[in-house]
Amino acid sequence: MSKHSFVELEQFESLASQFGGRARVETLARIPHEGCDFPIYSLMLGSMRQDVPVFAFFGGVHGLEKIGSEVILSYLQTLLQLLDWDEELTSRLERSRLVFVPIVNPVGVYCGTRSNGNGVDLMRNAPVEGNGNTRLFSGHRLSHRLPWYRGSASQMEAEALALCRVVETQLFTAPLAIALDLHSGFGIHDRLWFPYASRKEAFPHIAQAHALKTLFDRCYPHHFYKIEPMSQEYVINGDLWDYLYDDFVQSHDSRRLFMPLTLEMGSWLWLRKSPLHLFQRHGLFHPLLPHRQQRILRRHFTLFDFLHRSLLYPSKWAGLDGEQLALNRRRAMDLWYA
Ligand SMILES: [Zn+2]
Repeated sequence: MSKHSFVELEQFESLASQFGGRARVETLARIPHEGCDFPIYSLMLGSMRQDVPVFAFFGGVHGLEKIGSEVILSYLQTLLQLLDWDEELTSRLERSRLVFVPIVNPVGVYCGTRSNGNGVDLMRNAPVEGNGNTRLFSGHRLSHRLPWYRGSASQMEAEALALCRVVETQLFTAPLAIALDLHSGFGIHDRLWFPYASRKEAFPHIAQAHALKTLFDRCYPHHFYKIEPMSQEYVINGDLWDYLYDDFVQSHDSRRLFMPLTLEMGSWLWLRKSPLHLFQRHGLFHPLLPHRQQRILRRHFTLFDFLHRSLLYPSKWAGLDGEQLALNRRRAMDLWYA
């Protein structure tokens, strides 16, 4: 089928067959590219009931940042082994669902490009206009030959639609859901971003985001994440998560909560340690030394585990009452928007 092997896709297919009946695997879309036909897969573990909380992982939206796909595949490998004996995990999965879409942009991951096969940056593709200091990298409609091209204003790309569909069917139907979208690049810190990306304005669940951060800070005081609204760093057009979040808030019961998070792994640190990697294709976005790659593959598992558990026991963050909500909102405004 392909001209060179597609390691990440093969790895996913092998994992999917090892999970067997313990996972539900679906093909969300097929993306044609130069005579090939690349599937976008999802894999689900745990309860399929609509009233359980859901934690979803997305990787490879930007194909060049395939480390996101690799981290998810590595986590799936760990879960596959744990399910053999860890009854605590099994019982957690009876009360929750994990959803994985490790390769959202298969053509991009296969070709090593940020954009999809049409030259569109999928994280600039949604019908959301940035408000504030936007630049070329914020997303534009000048030419598909330039990076950060937004694509058509009237029709979203097949990959973006596939992502929206899985969020709408699997996360919007849940009482409580977290999406974690894995990227790499931007700076030397690992950042955990919540909305908005399109404007420097507090999103309606800012109190819950602050409470979740406080809980994580308290339980893991030596963690290395910078947790903030994405617009603290820059403002972009067409952010898929802003689009989905606003849609959710408008169309759903206010007692439900959908929290989209972006994990931006700070890859410039990998580069600072080996500056010559700048001249290699994946250099800015991917750890090229094996020991560094291994470290990154396991680096975020504590966060994943924490987020999964926080969905099962939401009283300290998602289930806040009036006074706690007001207090967290005030603290969030002081911290991020003062
Ligand atoms: Zn990215």
